[in-house]
Amino acid sequence: MGPPATATPLSPELLAWALGICALLLALAVVQGLRLLRSRSRLHARLAAARDQLDRLRGRDLLTGLSTRTEFEAVLNEATHSADRGTAALSLLYVGLDDFRPLNDGYGHRVGDAVLTEAGARLGRCAGTPLALSRVGGDEFALLLPLGGDDASLAAQQVLRALQEPFRVEALELQLSASVGIALYPDHGSRPRLLAHAALAMRSVKQVGGASHAFYTPALAVDQREQAELLQALRHAVQRGELQLVYQPKVDARSLQITAAEALLRWQHPQRGTISPAVFIPLAERHGLINTIGRWVIEEACRQAAQWRQQGLRMRVAVNLSGHQLRQDDLVPHIQATLRRHKIPPERLTVEITESVAMEDTAHTRAAFERLRQAGLHVSIDDFGTGHSSLATLRRLPAAELKIDRAFIVDLGQSERARSIVQAVVQMARTLELRVVAEGVETTAQRDVLIDLGVNELQGYLFAKPMSATALALWADTDEPPGGGHAGHGFRASLFDATAPAPLK
Ligand code: C2E
Ligand code: CA
Ligand code: CA
Repeated sequence: MGPPATATPLSPELLAWALGICALLLALAVVQGLRLLRSRSRLHARLAAARDQLDRLRGRDLLTGLSTRTEFEAVLNEATHSADRGTAALSLLYVGLDDFRPLNDGYGHRVGDAVLTEAGARLGRCAGTPLALSRVGGDEFALLLPLGGDDASLAAQQVLRALQEPFRVEALELQLSASVGIALYPDHGSRPRLLAHAALAMRSVKQVGGASHAFYTPALAVDQREQAELLQALRHAVQRGELQLVYQPKVDARSLQITAAEALLRWQHPQRGTISPAVFIPLAERHGLINTIGRWVIEEACRQAAQWRQQGLRMRVAVNLSGHQLRQDDLVPHIQATLRRHKIPPERLTVEITESVAMEDTAHTRAAFERLRQAGLHVSIDDFGTGHSSLATLRRLPAAELKIDRAFIVDLGQSERARSIVQAVVQMARTLELRVVAEGVETTAQRDVLIDLGVNELQGYLFAKPMSATALALWADTDEPPGGGHAGHGFRASLFDATAPAPLK
């Protein structure tokens, strides 16, 4: 047996060296561990902060801090349930900034972002306390308000004013406008459709130049294909002679003599029969056809007026002007040229402009009204009572006539409130030296109340429905007093008078 193997003793130097290595490795491991721990806890802290932020931002738009579409829809859901249970009013305003894209491209995204943030902040301040306010698209916002129709329209005007204030970003001062679409719940759509319907109304405003608001109407949601077909047909309607004007008389409330004939458009579609202007006028406005059609109306109404004058009928002729026409710089010179060609004095043509268009108060409408004043045309504010005129704005307009909306006439027989409204309009009109016309008069009871209240002129089915120019000449030629009653007032006399407005009472 050989000697037992013995371990070779380490030399002290080698031992020290090995220990040194071990200590170094240990130290390295400790440092590494510590680092790991530290970075782990940093990671934890960062994660916690991020989670916090996410929680805060859940349902928030990162740029503006407003609700996201998801949260907006959740609130909308809740609100419609409450509206279904009670009588609470609910309206959805869809706000789109006009021409934001060129601004964003031109000045850069930093400026664009600042404008959007400021726009969001203004929306939160200007319309009371919205139930929800959200940025639902790049430059589009939605507001949910506990308001009914009239108040929603007021809120939309506040929104428009708030966004028209200049935006100061860095050294820039930027001027913007907006378009607002309104959908009321439940009248303008079920819960899932409400946002889309308000958006449709907003786009209809943009298509006619923006800087205004509009309520949703079912015509906006007419099937896309059907709309495209109708639009194609409408493009040819003027050349093919499918458009026609019918006329509805206005009569003096006391003498019942005819004072004016309002021209109302009809479209005889070759397959579909007569199409209401309530359907095709909005379509024409959205697709840039309203000017062609509007010019045809002016030409045809003036031609007819000239022909009637030759026959001895000298009543005023009225045409309806859309907001889009009013924004055309050459509208008034065009009307003047047409009047000259047909030898009709300007004060014999009434232009009916709805109150909501008249109240827009943009540079365009102000300029158009100034030109109308200078041209001496007879201006009537149509559908009066549905917008929100201030006395100050009314005073500035070159209007000669207020035409009370049909909605107020319908209730006259039975509603004390409707009566007070008409009374207030008459009083206001007197202060401003304007004549008052009531439209949509259907019953003798309504007629009597209106005469009692001092309304100057009446129009409606009680007297006559819209009719062809030939029928109107025959109608005006009858000795029968219109609307029954008031016997003894022959009608023929009016044909030869220049039915100037009777002096104000
Ligand atoms: P509007 O200017 O308020 O015209 C009055 C509307 O009420 C007409 O409907 C008329 O037929 C109807 N109406 C008149 N009297 C009565 C009545 O006693 N009871 C009832 N229930 N209705 C009555 P229409 O012809 O369907 O016109 C609808 C709207 O289309 C007009 O409302 C006007 O805003 C627009 N429009 C018509 N023609 C033109 C046009 O040439 N150009 C433009 N831009 N718009 C037009
Ligand atoms: Ca009218
Ligand atoms: Ca009207």
